Parts: sequence; structure tokens; C-alpha cells
Amino acid sequence: MLGLMQDQPLLISQLIEFAARHHPDGAIVSRRVEGDIHRYTYRDAAARSRRVANALDRLGLGFSDRVATLAWNGYRHFELYYGVSGSGRVVHTINPRLAPDQVAWIANHAEDKVLCFDMTFLPIVKAIWSKCTTVATWVALCDPAALPGDTGIPNLVAYEAWIGAESDRYEWPVFDERSAAALCYTSGTTGNPKGALYSHRSTILHAYGEALPDAISLSARDSVLAVVPMFHVNAWGLPYSAAMTGCKLVLPGASLDGKSVYELMEAEKVTLSAGVPTVWLGLLTYMKQQGLTFSSMQRTVIGGSACPPAMIRTFREDYGVTVLHAWGMTEMSPLGTVCNLKLNQLAADRESQYAVMAKQGRAVYGVDMKIVDGNGEELPWDGESTGDLLVKGPWVVSGYFKGEGGQVLRDGWFPTGDVASIDPDGFLQITDRSKDVIKSGGEWISSIDIENIAMAHPAVAMAACIAVPHPKWDERPLLVVVRKPGAEATPAEILGFFEGKVAKWQVPDDVVFVDSIPLGATGKMQKMKLREQFREHRLPGA
Ligand code: AMP
Repeated sequence: MLGLMQDQPLLISQLIEFAARHHPDGAIVSRRVEGDIHRYTYRDAAARSRRVANALDRLGLGFSDRVATLAWNGYRHFELYYGVSGSGRVVHTINPRLAPDQVAWIANHAEDKVLCFDMTFLPIVKAIWSKCTTVATWVALCDPAALPGDTGIPNLVAYEAWIGAESDRYEWPVFDERSAAALCYTSGTTGNPKGALYSHRSTILHAYGEALPDAISLSARDSVLAVVPMFHVNAWGLPYSAAMTGCKLVLPGASLDGKSVYELMEAEKVTLSAGVPTVWLGLLTYMKQQGLTFSSMQRTVIGGSACPPAMIRTFREDYGVTVLHAWGMTEMSPLGTVCNLKLNQLAADRESQYAVMAKQGRAVYGVDMKIVDGNGEELPWDGESTGDLLVKGPWVVSGYFKGEGGQVLRDGWFPTGDVASIDPDGFLQITDRSKDVIKSGGEWISSIDIENIAMAHPAVAMAACIAVPHPKWDERPLLVVVRKPGAEATPAEILGFFEGKVAKWQVPDDVVFVDSIPLGATGKMQKMKLREQFREHRLPGA
């Protein structure tokens, strides 16, 4: 016997129409690449999304055709999210920090028909348009007046003219909720990038999950700054969960330096923000230098790579902001876990709470997880055993776009490539990316643990711990450090800082100072590059 509930597919078009109807005056504020601040409402965004849908119909784009974006976080990008997916096409966000040849490779692999770009990225488009064999229309996200006449790019239109010619009335199509809605390629640190293809259903379920109190607790009382880019895993789903909850949405454009982020937070009375640790490092440095405080910020979601415990402490003790440490990946839409304390932990002392908050948190309903040993046997949730982390759920990939990488699931579980422990309360702790693990004399050393300790040293701005080949132990840890401006610590002082904090054999053998650590297109430290750079490094005593 079936239930007698209305059978309504979960479609992305419903989100924007819901927001337009129930939160018509809810604000979307964008710092434009033009430099000024743009303000409008969900009602306006819905109307312009419908114009996008009409413009795509006029181009004759078919169901599931791909429309690419090379764009910062802004209102036009937001409209494309809804106009493209809502009308049955697939919004394909491309990371503009990739090399132009990689951008062209991805656009060709995805067979993008239209590519929409911020004027910042005109040089990339000029370099690749002739290599993109499937793109028939190029849309510059600007007014016609801002479009130079001599670009040489064929079929180039200005977005405002393109959608300005269309009606803001549109009948959103109704189709199978499992249809593809959005496409995002993984950073591709090994081999070619692979596409995670999100569906309408997975996107909406993810938005529900994300808004839960034990996830990021999003509501119509929040003003949310999405620092995490819309070109990487859909800004962690915030453009969708924002429309679902009717929160105020603040989009920072290209200005992600500490000063710009701080000023936007204050001007727009931001209560919640989300981004990778490197962005917050810039913000905290700026605030410290200027002696500033927050007037409205309550919490910040930090993920994408491990959030140093020292940062969690600084946010709370110096600025009264709770860090929600989160873990996920492109293949998971991206949310897997968020760290919120449980009732029994609220009464604990601060230090015990910090120990919990440094973990990546508990699974959001919709995601199940387990850790396994080398034989695939499940390991206990004792907070000690570490193993390969596997996940499953309705917003986790079942495979990659066009079958790249073949069969990726193991008995229905997706292997994340992360190594982790899980404690009896269900808190996940990532100890490493499996390829970053340091194997010393048959024992594993967690590079993240070592980096977290190093980051608490007052002279350290950034630290990466990598494996260096060793004749006796196979591998030993080397700590690569960027010192804070003007700080003077020596290698011996930094190594001394580890005393009593980890077992002696886990302390790095050496410290090297560098001016900067290479960051990838999504702001993660590129340890592979460092390993190559320091492969020949002679460790003391080796
Ligand atoms: P991406 O698909 O580019 O977002 O990368 C996902 C990977 O980033 C994960 O598999 C982890 O290795 C890493 N990652 C994400 N969040 C965290 C976190 N909070 N702590 C440690 N690693 C993280």
C-alpha cells in the first residue's frame, strides 16, 4: 500500500519560487567585480532567473545541456544557478584558479554549450575560446557598455542584454527529481579532474541537511556571508539552503582579503560565514593588526582542510565567535560532518570542549560513514583506531560523470581517500589524506596532528608536515613553516614546542622555513609539490 501524500518531485526551481513567495524581501547583497555593492531581493532574483531560463530556451538548449560558469560569488552567478538548473539544464561551475588549459579541458569534457564569465576572467576566455569545441555562446556577466568591442571571441553577448531581452515570466518544467542539476569537477591532484554530477533531489536533500541545527543551523534570522566560492562545490550548497531558509545572503565577489571580508561582515551585520582556513587566517591577521572586533558575527563554518585548533580558540576567546568545524568533499555535495557539541559535552570544561571542537564533527543525517582496515573490516568507534573512511548517502556520488574512474563504490560505499578515527559519540577526526600519511618504521604519523601543534606556536603563520624518504624508517616527517612577519623562531625552538605534546618518534626530524606554501585551486596546501621540492632534503642523522 502506498502512502497518500502528494507526489511532488524535489526540484531546484521550487527553492527560488519558495523564496520569492515566502521571503520576497529577503536580501541578497553582492560586492560586484565592478567594485560597488549591489542589493536586491529573492523576488528580483527569481524574476531574473526566469529571464535566464527564457534566454536558454531561445538558444535552443536541450534538457541536460551544460552551461558553464567562470565566476565569483555574486547575484548573476546566483541567477544562473537557478535559471540553468531550474529549466532542466546543468550548471557547470568551473574553477577559474585552474590553468587555462585545464579550464578548456574541463569545458570540452563536459561538452559545455554556453560559457558565462565574469569580466575578471576575460583573459582566460581569450586564451581558451578557440580550444573549446562545444561552446557556441559566450556570455560576459556585465552590462553591454562594459563589453569591449575587440575581444575576437565569437558569439559573445553581455549578460544584461542577453537576459534583458527576455520575459520574467516562465513556466518551470517538472521532471524527474533525479535529473542532473549541477556539475563540479574535483580538484584532480592525481590524473585528470573528474566530474561530480549533482541531481535536483540530492541538492535539495543536502540543503535540508545543511540547514539543520546540528549542521550549520541556518534560518531567516541569519545574515550569511558565503566566502566559500560558488565555483567550488556550489559554495557548500549555501545558495540553495539560503533560498530554502530565506536568510540574508551576502556574496563577496573577488575581494577575499581580510580588510574587504571584515568590512562586508560589519556593513551587512553578518551572523554566519563559511570558508576555508586560509581565508580566516587573512581575516584574523587583519583584525589583530587593526585591533578590531565583530559586532554581529556569531559562528563560522570552517572546512575544506583541517581547521587548526589555535584558530578555533582565537575565534572564540578573542572574538566571541563559535567555529563549526566541518568536513566534506566535492563528491559529497559537499557536507559530511559538522562539529557541534552534544548535551553531555556542554557541562564539560573548556579544554575538553576545545578537544571535541577540533574534530571534524558528527555525520549530518543523510550521510553514513565507517572506517575500515586494510582488509575492509570495519573498525571500532573508539576514538583511537584509524582507518580508511567510507561514506554513503543520497548526496554522495555513485560514480563520476561519463563513467570516468570506472566503478568507484565498494559494496555501495564511497571511499573518501581520507584516514580517520570516530569516537563513541560519533565524532569524526580526519588524521590525513591517505596519500599524505607519513609511514615511519611501520607506524603512521598524522600530518594534520603535527601541523595543528605547529600552528599553535606564536611564530608560525602556516605549517605543512610532509614525508621525506629515510634510509632506516622509510619515511620521516619534515615540517615546512612560514613564519609570521617579523617572527624569529629557530628550527630547534619549534621542535622543542612539540615536547610532551606527541610521542617522541612523531616529532618532525627537521624544520625548513619558506616564504610561502603552495596552495591549490581550492585553497588547500599542495603537499605533493612540497614532497617533490624536499625529496632530496637531508634529515639530520639520516
Ligand atoms: P574537495 O573535494 O576539493 O573539497 O576536497 C575534499 C577533501 O578535503 C577531503 O577528502 C579531505 O581530505 C579534505 N578536507 C575537507 N574538509 C576537511 C577538514 N575539515 N579537515 C581535514 N580535511 C578536510
